Amino acid sequence: MTFDWTAHRFSGGALALDVANSVVLRHITEKRMDRFADPALLAEFPAAASKLSAEKPGDLAALHPDDVPLLIALREAIDLHFRTKTLGHENREALATLLEAISACLRRGRAEENLLTATARSALRLASGADQERMKICANCGWLFIDRSKNRSRTWCDMAVCGNRVKASRYYAARRAGAFQAEET
Ligand SMILES: [Zn+2]
Repeated sequence: MTFDWTAHRFSGGALALDVANSVVLRHITEKRMDRFADPALLAEFPAAASKLSAEKPGDLAALHPDDVPLLIALREAIDLHFRTKTLGHENREALATLLEAISACLRRGRAEENLLTATARSALRLASGADQERMKICANCGWLFIDRSKNRSRTWCDMAVCGNRVKASRYYAARRAGAFQAEET
């Protein structure tokens, strides 16, 4: 199956969340997929994020290979902190881990803004701004996203993909007593 970094994959509303969402179906162990585990996909991500991330981070230089472990540590810290906070279980330990990961990435800063530093800045803005109050978890794919709708009524990261998939699978699986299958997106 070919894979593209389409606009859908930047539904998070902030670069930090788009990076966290490089893991699909995090909550279902047997379906969980890490797009950054493929070095070719990770290499294509910064250029796609420059164009498609809601924060419009501008041109991001290629990630230095030595920086990959820091990026992954930052990604996991972003997800842990904001996911637990969104679920109502905020804990200081997760915030402290996130802030440590942010500072490690900023310290590693190279001459040009790259995915590492841009994601760190995005995470810092989120952790200290009002957008985190609008954060939600997609009911289909498990992605984190910021619901900027006026009445905060969004259930899906992307209605056109996750909303329709759940509707369709509910329709076709009507006999299976309302259970729906989470779908890869
Ligand atoms: Zn979704």
